[in-house]
Amino acid sequence: MPSGVQRPMAWGSWMAERFRCSYLLALFAVVLLVACNRTAAPPPREASPATTPADAKQVRAVVSLPVFVSLVEAVGADRVQVSSIVPAGTDPHTYQPAPRDAQALAEAEVIFVNGLGLEGWLDDLIASAGSSARVVELAEGLQTIQDAPSTPEPEHAHEAGNPHLWLDPGYAIEYVRRIAQALGEIDPDGAATYRANAERYIAEIEEFDAWAKEQVQRIPPEHRKLVTFHDAFPYFAEHYGLELVGVIVLSPGREPSPQELAQLVDLIRRQGVPAIFTEPQFNPKLAETLAREAGVEVLELYSDTPPAGEDYIGMMRRNVEHVVEGLA
Ligand SMILES: [Zn+2]
Repeated sequence: MPSGVQRPMAWGSWMAERFRCSYLLALFAVVLLVACNRTAAPPPREASPATTPADAKQVRAVVSLPVFVSLVEAVGADRVQVSSIVPAGTDPHTYQPAPRDAQALAEAEVIFVNGLGLEGWLDDLIASAGSSARVVELAEGLQTIQDAPSTPEPEHAHEAGNPHLWLDPGYAIEYVRRIAQALGEIDPDGAATYRANAERYIAEIEEFDAWAKEQVQRIPPEHRKLVTFHDAFPYFAEHYGLELVGVIVLSPGREPSPQELAQLVDLIRRQGVPAIFTEPQFNPKLAETLAREAGVEVLELYSDTPPAGEDYIGMMRRNVEHVVEGLA
């Protein structure tokens, strides 16, 4: 074969080979670049603060109850690390602090609590932890409702009024504003971000609330009556036009006497209450017994811990769905 013919062929295949090589090289470079970028990306939020870039300061916040975690996360986003003292699904009224709680409080820059006597165990704990964190009482100075008037042992009642204000979305919005204000003072570089995040979350709460008010309209007016496990829902009831007719456990940890249970069964029947509500952090047996006696349904409500994977709004949506399901 003449070399003149073979040469262009060889040249062509050399070119093709070269092209293939550079193509592979370029591909390799892209893969390398992506891999490098990935390793250079900021560490995930759960990474230890030692690996956090110095310019991305993270505020360490501690909250008393799991339900406040999502409020602080909504406002703080990436700038704030937040954990709850009371673990998910634990009754905060009777909570016994653990040694790890003192550690978390000692490391915190800000501690968000509800106040109004809900976290009676916390003051001593903060003092003994040697924490210099700023303590923000989210419910401070807000208009409260007094505890159920039938409370037989008023000395066990919340002296400052019922503390569960956050179950009224209007008060939750106030909590969000206070969180943004406090974080902005502690971390002034993030103040504008906190304000913007707060306004966005407040708009979401308002959107939820408009939906919730529509949902409640599906309940016949004569059925808009609430019997709950513990006295956590007076603000929720008032906000949505429900009448709180009874509470199973009038003060934390105190089970009703057989006589009181009989009175409650009678009340449920007389008032024509179609369902009663328990809460996942409490033993359901008492509510189930009561429901069987009264011939009504039992559903769940959430007060201190949102259901798994849900934030404050998701928890409230679940509450409204269950109330409508039980009473409509
Ligand atoms: Zn409570």
